[in-house]
Amino acid sequence: MKFVCTQCHKEALVSERGLYRCVCGGLLDTIHDFKNMDAQRLKWLFDSRLAERNTPLAGGVWRYKELIHPELPIERIVTKYEGNTGLYDSEALRTAAGVRRLWIKAQSENPSGSFKDNGMTVAVSHGRWLGYDRFACTSTGNTSSSMAMYAALANAEAVVFLPSEAVSRNKALQTEAYGARMFRTTGGYDDGLRFLDRYADSLGLYICNSINPLRIEGQKSIVFELAHQLRWKLPDWIVVPGGALSNASALGKGLTELRDIGFIDTVPRIAVVQAEGASPFHRMIQSGQRSLIPASRPDTIANALHIGNPPNWPKALRYAIEFADGVTASVSDEEILEAKALIDRSGIGCEPASAATLAGLRKLVAAGTVGKDETAACLLTGSLLKDTDAIELSLRFDSPNLAGPLNPVELTIENIRHVLM
Ligand SMILES: *Cc1c(COP(=O)(O)O)cnc(C)c1O
Ligand SMILES: [Zn+2]
Repeated sequence: MKFVCTQCHKEALVSERGLYRCVCGGLLDTIHDFKNMDAQRLKWLFDSRLAERNTPLAGGVWRYKELIHPELPIERIVTKYEGNTGLYDSEALRTAAGVRRLWIKAQSENPSGSFKDNGMTVAVSHGRWLGYDRFACTSTGNTSSSMAMYAALANAEAVVFLPSEAVSRNKALQTEAYGARMFRTTGGYDDGLRFLDRYADSLGLYICNSINPLRIEGQKSIVFELAHQLRWKLPDWIVVPGGALSNASALGKGLTELRDIGFIDTVPRIAVVQAEGASPFHRMIQSGQRSLIPASRPDTIANALHIGNPPNWPKALRYAIEFADGVTASVSDEEILEAKALIDRSGIGCEPASAATLAGLRKLVAAGTVGKDETAACLLTGSLLKDTDAIELSLRFDSPNLAGPLNPVELTIENIRHVLM
């Protein structure tokens, strides 16, 4: 296991402190030696771990430890048994998407309510192992909630730079509840990341944003668990929302590795869906360019996608677009809220950013990019309760009576029977 620069291919040790980028400024990527891995033996091992209880390997991330962080001693793992999330099959959502078969992978069911836990358990465990006791991030609210949760669990300090705008109240309060030291900042996510990139070392902070390559390693478990739940037969498409593009990168990398080791023969295609007001990656792919022009003023109701300069775009380009023959789409806030209403009504539920997947899939089917006879899995990234203000907005779409404050009704049998008729 080593780090390799995505730009100049220079190598670095995984055990080095303060390492997120190469000296040339390129992102670091984790490269494993999987030569002696045997897919059959690993399938048996991963199956056997489904019976684990109260050990780190009982979680849906560390179950796949050999493919994620083989070098970390088990007793150094900081875990909340993250992952282990549901995979659902909803007729209503399948019909809405217009595909032959649709799976919903609910990363929203993670302990802090978002997929960030899949990567954060690895980043915080690794940072603790390196000797850090201060963890830091900038965030649109879910990274900070997750990091603060694991830092508290590890008896360490969480230092958070949270933009004062475009963060849901729920996420800010959740982060604070776990005991984080929180700075509400005047700039956005992009400014916070630039600050950390520059000053984290001198402040003794371990960066837990997705430029940290260990976050990506942990998030690969999402596609490992999805494949495991489907007995190693993946759908034709996997649809993810795109903000900082850590998921797009991680899923593509995870699929590469599953194919190389021999778990799967064919690699599903990846669809990355961005919000129209924050879609620099989509615009780059559309225009056939190979370098990203940041969106200077991101604007979307999906606050988890409120990112103008997604740091992981080179990895997403390599793994999700080039390797997994991926495509991109963008959706409006209106389309996001409409899809959210459908997902909430199905009983699964999610925050707006996650609903971009269903909205994007519908568009890709309508455009003929995804075939009606194909199968797909949508990744729901965050929970319904992460953004309660957005619920009122999405309710407009199919529950007009519930959108405003209810008029009190006198509780008589006639009144109720009349309404229920
Ligand atoms: C962080 C986040 C995203 C964006 O994911 P990236 O991997 O950064 O592209 C999407 N949805 C939710 C709910 C998130 O918390
Ligand atoms: Zn380099």
